[in-house]
Amino acid sequence: MVDLEYKGLLKRVIESTPKKEMSDDRFKLPKAEIFYEGNTTVIKNFDKITDVINREPDLLLKYLLGGLGTAGEMVGGRVVFQGKIPAKSIQDKIKEYVDNLVICSECSRPDTHLVKQGRTVLIRCDACGAIRSVKSRKKKTVQQPSETLNEGMTVELTIKDIGKKGDGIAYYDKYIVYVSGAMKGSMVKVKIEKISGTVAFGHIVEV
Ligand SMILES: [Zn+2]
Repeated sequence: MVDLEYKGLLKRVIESTPKKEMSDDRFKLPKAEIFYEGNTTVIKNFDKITDVINREPDLLLKYLLGGLGTAGEMVGGRVVFQGKIPAKSIQDKIKEYVDNLVICSECSRPDTHLVKQGRTVLIRCDACGAIRSVKSRKKKTVQQPSETLNEGMTVELTIKDIGKKGDGIAYYDKYIVYVSGAMKGSMVKVKIEKISGTVAFGHIVEV
């Protein structure tokens, strides 16, 4: 959904964001202190980690549970996982989370927060004002082979938005499709008339 209009909007938001003064302290992710208790694995300083990265403990916990494929819960400031999880796997997952969902890709600072925009989660950097969308790793691994649109073909699309000129906007794989006379939110069959790069134009053949 990166069309020019969207990019322009982002740029304006970024430009109008006051640049906050940040301390020069280098970001240091606390190393997870892990020990084993019976058949469980405990991260002793979980709350310290989520404090430093400024994220809800729940979010990181969910990420770890999904990534490690185990059950677990927060107990006080600790996390207790079922089973014995190799410390390195846990450290790696935490680092992956921080790289993907905390560190600003522009200035490499951790002073970011998450902004929800509909179903999209964006990372907004408080230090430099940059905004980027969160890359979902999960999506990548189950990604369908890239679909190609051809002129003349008919595809079923959901109109996500209405553009400046009144055309419906839909997304199909890497394409943004402008559909004349379509209503926002409707699901329509669209005949593709013209393709230019990743921008396609079409009209409704059947409602
Ligand atoms: Zn930044």
